[in-house]
Amino acid sequence: MAHAADHHDEPETTGPKVISVSDRHPRVRTIQVVRPDAADTTYLAATAKGLGITLKHFARNLFLPLKKLANRNVAGAPVDEKWRNEIETVQYPEEKVPYPERFRGLHRLMMRDDGAVRCVACMCCPTVCPAHCITIIPEESDNPGIEKRPAVFEIDELRCVVCGLCVEACPCDAIRMDTGEHARPVEERADAIETKETMLSRGLVSIATQGGEGPNWRNR
Ligand code: SF4
Ligand code: SF4
Repeated sequence: MAHAADHHDEPETTGPKVISVSDRHPRVRTIQVVRPDAADTTYLAATAKGLGITLKHFARNLFLPLKKLANRNVAGAPVDEKWRNEIETVQYPEEKVPYPERFRGLHRLMMRDDGAVRCVACMCCPTVCPAHCITIIPEESDNPGIEKRPAVFEIDELRCVVCGLCVEACPCDAIRMDTGEHARPVEERADAIETKETMLSRGLVSIATQGGEGPNWRNR
């Protein structure tokens, strides 16, 4: 295949360098791949820079609190906002950063107006859960307008990765995790399992209309 070399009319690009273009079709081209310099592929400079930043944060965190502590006249006084903003890490659990508004924490199950569980045991949430930590055993509902309800609804909070997919998947606003609460600290693994009863106890009457009624359902 003949190639027309030295195409000086080629526009300057930041991509691979075009060496030649085929006479038969302009899209058939020979290109020269630009390899990065050895200095860039060893990552030594970037590694040294990153270690320098870490060292700087370490030194600030080590010496700045001591200096500020010496200036505090009352032991246990509230942490000065200025002090907190100057150090690079949060002194948890003495200090806590406010969670963002969209934080999703501990699960709760929502209720209907009559106090019954809102879940219809559709199995969407255990299907989507990446941690396989939701267990639902359905039973027939005594409400003639509802096919099923959960007889058992359990979530193993130790396996939960707090992804929120169960909330996203639920078609009827039956499960939420927007309370800003963490899962409870426990000593036994079994105690980390949230049951239907405990999740319902922190649930609220749902504001959603069953089945969805358009984009303004949250205002109902
Ligand atoms: S938050 Fe994620 S991991 Fe936890 S129960 Fe819901 S879907 Fe499963
Ligand atoms: S997705 Fe909603 S309705 Fe379906 S089983 Fe889960 S909580 Fe119940």
